[in-house]
Amino acid sequence: MSTARTDLEALTAALRAAIGADRVISDRQQLRTYECDGLAQYKVVPALVALPADAAQCASVVRACVAADTPFVARGSGTGLSGGALPHADGVLIVTSQMREILEVAPSDERAVVQPGVINLAVTRAAAPYGWYYAPDPSSQQICSIGGNVAENSGGAHCLKYGFTTNHVIGVELVTPDGDRVHLGGRAPDAPGYDLLGAFVGSEGTLGIATEVTVRLTRLPESVRTLLAAFESTDQAGAATSAIIAAGVVPAAVEMMDTLAISAAEEAVHCGYPAGAGAVLIVELDGPEPEVEAQFDQVVRLCRDNRAFEIRIAADDAERALFWKGRKSAFAAVGRISPDYIVQDGVIPRTALPAVLRRIGELSAERGIRVANVFHAGDGNLHPLVLFDAAVDGQTERAEEVSGAILDLCVSHGGSITGEHGVGMDKAKYMPRMFTDDDLDTMQLLRCAFDPAGLANPGKVFPTPRLCGEIPGRRKGVHPAQEAGLAEAF
Ligand SMILES: Cc1cc2nc3c(=O)[nH]c(=O)nc-3n(C[C@H](O)[C@H](O)[C@H](O)COP(=O)(O)OP(=O)(O)OC[C@H]3O[C@@H](n4cnc5c(N)ncnc54)[C@H](O)[C@@H]3O)c2cc1C
Repeated sequence: MSTARTDLEALTAALRAAIGADRVISDRQQLRTYECDGLAQYKVVPALVALPADAAQCASVVRACVAADTPFVARGSGTGLSGGALPHADGVLIVTSQMREILEVAPSDERAVVQPGVINLAVTRAAAPYGWYYAPDPSSQQICSIGGNVAENSGGAHCLKYGFTTNHVIGVELVTPDGDRVHLGGRAPDAPGYDLLGAFVGSEGTLGIATEVTVRLTRLPESVRTLLAAFESTDQAGAATSAIIAAGVVPAAVEMMDTLAISAAEEAVHCGYPAGAGAVLIVELDGPEPEVEAQFDQVVRLCRDNRAFEIRIAADDAERALFWKGRKSAFAAVGRISPDYIVQDGVIPRTALPAVLRRIGELSAERGIRVANVFHAGDGNLHPLVLFDAAVDGQTERAEEVSGAILDLCVSHGGSITGEHGVGMDKAKYMPRMFTDDDLDTMQLLRCAFDPAGLANPGKVFPTPRLCGEIPGRRKGVHPAQEAGLAEAF
């Protein structure tokens, strides 16, 4: 699967003929712009970048790659935090940033149809005049693309009540890894047969490239109320979170920040959170006014019962925005208190929060590595920020050890190695901590069904070259599921 110099020239010419010379980048300096995604510690300069304008051009690019036996990687806005859009050195990076048209907003049908490069927040902006919005809201929603959201099954603060991307995507047109254009799902709520749309959402660019996405719109809530509660410890804030959910209240969001994350946010955006807090919770309720009013009083009481020492209730949109500003700036803000940091992403059952946070604190103290916690407490999706200074001998290694130990901790508490940022390049090595070889081989069977030649985003998600997913050509050897008579090869 290597693109020799002469092949590269031929491929460049083929791509230019297919989509226009100005849509193909081959200059080394310009290619560097695309050498990494949001996880900047991995860098690979792609052989070529293609910027298709529409689905037909995207299919032409993929077909040219197939003809040249060249790998390709899809990229939206490049904000991914697991190295999913990391280019292949011998491959073509297919960037959807020129596919940013909102094709349809149909509130009467609760639907919008968009091209994959459309920015998440743009969907909400287009639907807002009709009284609707797009619910999944990653903190990166001002810059990340819907195609990237689909590929990562992205979450966000409000996914506690509204669900992840997968709950809001009802149809996708994609270019398969052999260059065909196909539809999965559609405008109707359910399609017969296997849920291939479900398999595609979260497939991280390994099953094809989304070229058109039909999303479900949600009615803007009649009422939204937000509070900020300060506690002495994350234990207390965790207990308050569990009490709220146990009471049958489903807030739109419950977000937690610990003392280190608070001080970083304070320094960066002066959000004015209560002084001396060991943890803050942001709790937001939305829905019909009478329901929100009644439940909001209940939430305030539950926070007090769990020893919140200060509760602030947002008086207006400006104050609500200030509460959120601290939370939404937190990832970037830790850059002010540490030269380097790892954004970890794991998920645990919510009830394990106090035990897991305590153990993270111990790991941090044992290894002399600071960890700031900022996360979606309502659904147990942790984002420990592991701080280090790469210039100090041994700190990088210790930070990586702490980071890996946190994932082990998540798995041992019945959780997962990623809550929403995906596996990508970064976490492929951790997959065997959750899955057996047979599990991984079975996943590869699905991947092979879409991509027998292994050209779509190779080297991502799966830990080692196994079966056909990572090796060009058809799978070698008999799959264990076949051997056991559980699956047939055609
Ligand atoms: C500050 C910050 C905050 C963030 N907060 C959140 C958060 O709250 N929740 C969350 O879930 N994530 C969050 N993220 C991570 C990231 O924004 C999401 O994963 C997002 O969905 C990536 O979108 P993108 O367009 O940047 O995709 P990219 O980074 O370009 O690509 C991500 C993956 O999608 C694949 N891909 C891209 N486009 C397509 C396509 N059209 N078809 C098929 N595959 C495709 C790529 O190959 C890659 O594997 C955050 C990132 C940052 C930098």
